[in-house]
Amino acid sequence: MAVDTHVFRVSNRTKIAKGKTVQEVEKNLLKRVPSEYAYNAHHWLVLLGRYICKANKPRCDLCKIFSLCEFENKFLFRKI
Ligand code: SF4
Repeated sequence: MAVDTHVFRVSNRTKIAKGKTVQEVEKNLLKRVPSEYAYNAHHWLVLLGRYICKANKPRCDLCKIFSLCEFENKFLFRKI
């Protein structure tokens, strides 16, 4: 699974697949995401990172996976 800047950030922030390098994140994503969902999961993570889970100001107030996300500061960004 290709790990670009969005996939890398969202995977680490949500803690779905943590890693210090793109290779490590990819390895952990492939462990967690069933192969039949890998293609769609990649696009989902890219779009989430591009439009909702933005680098500087994540839109936690709009996020559909808020209850699943393990980002420790998500409540700070929910109020904005
Ligand atoms: S709740 Fe916030 S930090 Fe977590 S995935 Fe959604 S936008 Fe990102």
